[in-house]
Parts: sequence; C-alpha cells; structure tokens
Amino acid sequence: MRDPEHIRKVAKIVADSARDGKELVVVVSAMGHTTDQLIELSEQVNDRPDPREMDMLLCTGEQVSISLVAMALQKMGLKARSFTGAQAGILTDETHTFARIKTVQPSRLETSLRRGEIAVVAGFQGMTRTSDITTLGRGGSDTTAVALAAALKAECCDIYTDVNGVYTTDPRSYGKARRLHAISYEEMLELASAGAQVLNARSVELAMRNRVPIRLRSTFEPDDTGTLVTSRDLAPDYQICGVALDTNRVSFKLSVRQDFSVKESTASVHETTVDSTYLHYNSKTERLLDDLSSLGLNREQVNVVRTGDTVSQIEFNCEKRLSREAKEVILEYFPQNNGTILSVDTDVARISVVGIGATECHRRGDIIGALSAASIPVAMISTSNISVSAVVPAKYKDQAVKHLHDAFCNGNSLSEPKTTT
Ligand code: ASP
Ligand code: MG
Repeated sequence: MRDPEHIRKVAKIVADSARDGKELVVVVSAMGHTTDQLIELSEQVNDRPDPREMDMLLCTGEQVSISLVAMALQKMGLKARSFTGAQAGILTDETHTFARIKTVQPSRLETSLRRGEIAVVAGFQGMTRTSDITTLGRGGSDTTAVALAAALKAECCDIYTDVNGVYTTDPRSYGKARRLHAISYEEMLELASAGAQVLNARSVELAMRNRVPIRLRSTFEPDDTGTLVTSRDLAPDYQICGVALDTNRVSFKLSVRQDFSVKESTASVHETTVDSTYLHYNSKTERLLDDLSSLGLNREQVNVVRTGDTVSQIEFNCEKRLSREAKEVILEYFPQNNGTILSVDTDVARISVVGIGATECHRRGDIIGALSAASIPVAMISTSNISVSAVVPAKYKDQAVKHLHDAFCNGNSLSEPKTTT
C-alpha cells in the first residue's frame, strides 16, 4: 500500500469479498518503503542496533497500516477492528528481527469475527512469552497470513502483491517470464529460498506443513485469481519451474595456502589474512562447519575442497544478514596471521534453476554450459534437492537470468507442464 488511494483500493477488495458473505481476517504490511526507511533511520543513530529495539521500531510500520485500513473499511459502512500481532495471538520465540512463530492463539480474532467484524491484523510482528515485540524477518507479513489461516482453519489464504502470480522468473526484470497457474509447495519453497521475492520462504514452509492453499494475486487485478500454491498432486508436473535471482548474498572463500601470496584485490573484495598453513580435515574443520550451520547456514552448501586429509579451501555463500557473524566465526578458528586468505565478496548474485529436472546430471552440465557460452564467469555451483545454483559477479546477473531462462523456461518442453489440473 503506497498511499491513501491505494488503501481505499485495498479496502474495496476486502469489502467486495465481505459482501460475498465470507468471514475475513485481513493481514496488512507497512506502507510503501516504510520498513526500509525505518531501517535507514536506525542506521543513522546506531550502526549495530540492539535487535530488541529494532523490533520496537519496525513494528510501527504495520500499526500505521492496520488502523488506516480499518478506518477505510468503516468509512465504507463495514464493521472492522484492527489488531497488533500480539493482540492477534501471534506468539514467537525470542529471536529478535527474525523470530519464528511458536503458536497462534487467535481467540480475540474469533470473537471479532463472531461480532461480524472484519479483523485487520498487523503482519510481520509477534510477541514473546515475556511480552516483548518481535518481527518475523523481511516479507514476514506473508508468514503472519499463512499462520492465521492455519490457526483459524481458513478456506484459503489469498496473498495480494503487485504482480498477478508466480512467474518463471521476476516479470519486472525479464519480459519473457511466463505465469504459472499452479505450483507445488515444494517448488514454491525452493523458488522462494532461491531468492524469488514473490513469497516469503517461511510462509511457504508453514503453508506446506499445514496444507493451507495460497493464491498469489495482484491488488491491481482483483478479478484475476493468480497462481495457486498447493500440494504436489494438485499442481502440474514441471521439469523446470523457474529461474530465481538472489542479490542478497555474500560469498566467502577461505583459501589455505602453503605459499602465502597476496591476492589481487577489487573494490568489493575485502581480504583478511588468517592463520595456519595447513588445515587438516579434523575436528577443527568440523567445529567450524557446526558453528556456521548453527548460524543458519545450510551445511550441505559449504564446499570443502580437500587433497587427501588436507583442506585447501572452504567456500560458501550466505544471506547478507548473516555475513558479519559468519566472518566472526571464521576468524575465531583462523585468527589473523599468515598463510591463509579469507576473501569476502559482496558484489555477487546467485542464480538458481529450480525444478525436479534441474539436478539431473546432464542438466547441471547444461546449466554451466549455458553460462559459459554467454561468457559469464561462474564462481561457485551448488545443488539442492530440486535446484542448481551458480554464483556469478553481480554485474552479470540480468544476463545470467536471461540465458538460463531462455535455455530452460522459454516455453520449451522442460518448463511445460506434463499434466494440467
Ligand atoms: N514490512 C515488512 C517488510 O518490509 C513485512 C512485509 O512487508 O511483509 O519486510
Ligand atoms: Mg511483502
């Protein structure tokens, strides 16, 4: 919701559904770029803000929205009442700025619905056991909506955004992207985890666990039912369902060298010299990997290059929000000295080809081949159950999306559903 006019537009969509006789709980997120602006504001006061205070700040954006949406609905003659996350019964753990929902106790919402009101709930926020306000991570309103849909046993969870569905890649950056009419939770989760901005990954995980169908729709085309995210047996079978781009990652490379030499440094690469001429694949490496995974890094995605029992390189990429801690962990095991180089590159993009067909071994080769045919240097390749990801220098991101999309999603047999429902 950008402005008052848009708030009225949202209220109109809600009012039309309410007139169809449905009981409605509406979850809203902050207006426009409010959350980004609040983050910028905090940075001007403290570059390492206390996460608890950060949550106290960030939750205000959604509170502005709920009150205005409730007012707009009341102006249209409907009964409406707004609720903060805490009032809606969203209880979370204590991980400030990235809290997980533990339980939902929606009794106040149920009472409101019984009174014939539309309940308007602040997304993205919750409360700990000790009544501290938490937020759920960027894009967390999606998670609030799915959690409430599950707790209230809703028929469906409609998520309205500025695109009218899930596409084979972001239609705002590549015009040839195609809309998918339905997609399985598993594929959607993989796309979201690979950086597709359209839905928050945790919300998909929660929907999958609770079997909540999601319809991804556009506020600008309220009559279009968008994309259905549903169980695998109800979704088409795609070999490849999309190409996702994630520009919010940092790549780490720890090179263990016997001959210490200084690597050429570019503006975006910060190098730190660290200890040890040999890194044996021993308990120290294991502990390092354990510590990295307890930060939330996927252990399978950490590349450990070995020669015999000697480790020559450890490589991984992680979300930007984890990079400071990841660097601290590495420096704890390999304090600054000589022999080993840690390079941290923030100027990277990760491109993922998603679908059950992506991980077939010949296709992994095809993916690398498509990038090298376009002269795009690949820094790192990793594979998950249903995706193959390549890390490339950020300046190649659009080109990489275009080439991979053209090769694997451009209306060819790979991205066409085998069966449709
Ligand atoms: N306002 C929050 C954010 O910008 C939550 C959301 O939009 O879902 O991340
Ligand atoms: Mg959002």
